[in-house]
Amino acid sequence: MPETETASTEPASLTGVWADVVGQESAVAQFRRAASPEGSLAQAWLVTGPPGSGRSTAARAFAATLQCATGEGCGTCTACRTVLAGTHPDVTVVATDKLSISKDAVRSLVLTAQRSPATGRHRVVIIEDADRMSAGTFNVLLKSIEEPPPLTVWMLCAPSAEDLAPTIRSRCRVVTLTVPRPVVVAELLVRRDGVDADTAERSARAAQGHIGLALRYATQEGALASRETAARTLLSLRSTGAAVLAAQSLVDQATAEAAAHADEVSAAERERFLHSAGIDDGPVPPALRGQLRQLEEDAKRRRTRLVRDVLDRYLLDAHSVLRDVLTLQLGSGSELVNPGVLDALEQAAQGRDARVTLRLLDAVGTARARIAGNVPPLLALEALLSQVAVSSR
Ligand SMILES: [Zn+2]
Repeated sequence: MPETETASTEPASLTGVWADVVGQESAVAQFRRAASPEGSLAQAWLVTGPPGSGRSTAARAFAATLQCATGEGCGTCTACRTVLAGTHPDVTVVATDKLSISKDAVRSLVLTAQRSPATGRHRVVIIEDADRMSAGTFNVLLKSIEEPPPLTVWMLCAPSAEDLAPTIRSRCRVVTLTVPRPVVVAELLVRRDGVDADTAERSARAAQGHIGLALRYATQEGALASRETAARTLLSLRSTGAAVLAAQSLVDQATAEAAAHADEVSAAERERFLHSAGIDDGPVPPALRGQLRQLEEDAKRRRTRLVRDVLDRYLLDAHSVLRDVLTLQLGSGSELVNPGVLDALEQAAQGRDARVTLRLLDAVGTARARIAGNVPPLLALEALLSQVAVSSR
């Protein structure tokens, strides 16, 4: 396998709390400079980067460095360890699996940000999904970002700067993370998670730089295998009938996967709500039924969104498979994303013209746009898979 990069080309500076922020040399250097005594510490930061690139890991590492006893982010002092464990009293992290962060939640963060640090040098507030705020919610945040108390540092994380209101992002120092290369993701899985080298490499390539997904492929029984099965199915479609069946089966799988995850989250949410209202069992009083209904509606919306997310991931996988076919057809020698199905890729590469593969890659993009635009997923998938089947005869 052509792999010229080795661990020795990685800078030796990835130590302490920065060890797990892989493939982000320039961002790490920027943070470390700012945290050093000579650096100028901005009080509002915006960490951007594609999903899975390690935005929140980087934000936490920076928070730890700001609180660290040595000022370096040693990773071993109490401050470093508690920040990374999420228990440091002066570091608040907000993450959400909801569609949006509420105005009330941000109001309470603004109050937190006003307080002086209890034990640390700074008070740090990290918002992981800062893109999930409405314009009104941004306004609640704005004042505190404009004029934070002297020891407070805000850290907002979002896929891109454009996801935030211009008034907010113009007041932040922006640090941009890039998609980490598979080789550094694989090293992380080996070092941090104890994954064997071969699985780590296959998983990191399949995940295309998404660290969380790579970990899932590497550690979840059958996850990588089922991805490879899906790739083989895609490449073996030869009739419209088979395409229609495959589309239905994908939607069924996505629905089941989304339901399992959404139900778990919703049950936990319901339990928390009832517990905080002091009802651990017994009937729900009428005054609370409205709020409970709201929770159930949230859950339904979350489930719909999850189905679409799962299908979008499938379409990204399909895109990577077709791109591998194109790579083989053009003989460009680029690294394959799906080396585990090389035989099927080679067969597909010989069976059709590169121009056809290009059209199919476009068709995947169209299917993604349709599903994002609320076309019923089954229809969008049937159209795509039929096109793949017809062009493979
Ligand atoms: Zn430390």
